[in-house]
Amino acid sequence: AIPLVSQISTALGARRGILVKNKLALEAARSIDVVLFDKTGTLTTGTLGVAAIAATSGSDDEVLALAAAVESKSEHPIARAIVAEAHDRGLAVAESTQFTALAGRGAQAVVDGRDLVVASHRVVVERAITLPVELVQAARDATTAGNTIVYLLEGEAVLGMFALADTVRPESLEAVRDLKERGVRVAMLTGDSHEVAITVAAQLGIDEVFAHVLPGEKADVVAKLQESGSVAMVGDGINDAPALARADVGIAIGAGTDVAIDSAGIVLASSDPRAVGALLKLSKATWRKEL
Ligand code: ADP
Ligand code: MG
Repeated sequence: AIPLVSQISTALGARRGILVKNKLALEAARSIDVVLFDKTGTLTTGTLGVAAIAATSGSDDEVLALAAAVESKSEHPIARAIVAEAHDRGLAVAESTQFTALAGRGAQAVVDGRDLVVASHRVVVERAITLPVELVQAARDATTAGNTIVYLLEGEAVLGMFALADTVRPESLEAVRDLKERGVRVAMLTGDSHEVAITVAAQLGIDEVFAHVLPGEKADVVAKLQESGSVAMVGDGINDAPALARADVGIAIGAGTDVAIDSAGIVLASSDPRAVGALLKLSKATWRKEL
């Protein structure tokens, strides 16, 4: 049987959009030392827009249509933004075949017989590709603006660059401030570049940042933080699932992926990061009363 007190607290939680999937997670939430937030889709809306395109071969629309063809089978927020922009511009997007997700790096597919990749700067570095000079300045400008950059690659050739702008959730600043006032350490984790991560963290008053983290490494960051205390991880993506499972309390954003929700003990139905502070408070209030 479910104890009465926790029945009441889950009802209270539900009113604030906190869905308790696992009672043990609700209990563990009373003694959290660190809250580790994923960036994209958690502290930000994850609904990206294409802020700039720089093409080295052909027009912006041509590289955009090719990138959209590659990304059409990906669920990543970057893929969605590129596909939506091509659609908004009324571009004809070819069918792609042999789609492969390059986890934490990009996407690959064959379009009109061409083997294309849309990927992060990490891939450019890993494949020792030389960035065309005309893209260097565009990439620097985008990064300074806090935008995420991906490149369209065909073998060693860089066909173009896309800058993607994300929006910080309006509630995130208050969510971070509230947790810090409760004496909780707040950290941020992302697969994105250090530059973008630092820009977002500075806006939110977060001073502990783990950037350039591959999907398989996110759980390792949780484990590292667990050496100094009890950790709650908040995330939305497929790539967050192992970290959510590893954390003392795994908290999924309601608007996130099914995989993230399945791996979490708590779900924030409202997708509002301020509910994390409310959760900690609710948990403390529940277990202070002798349960
Ligand atoms: P996060 O959720 O923190 O952004 P990911 O691991 O999903 O982390 O992605 C890390 C980086 O890999 C992204 O910032 C992007 O540069 C690149 N990436 C991943 N998937 C794609 C994709 N489908 N298209 C383009 N770039 C991608
Ligand atoms: Mg995310």
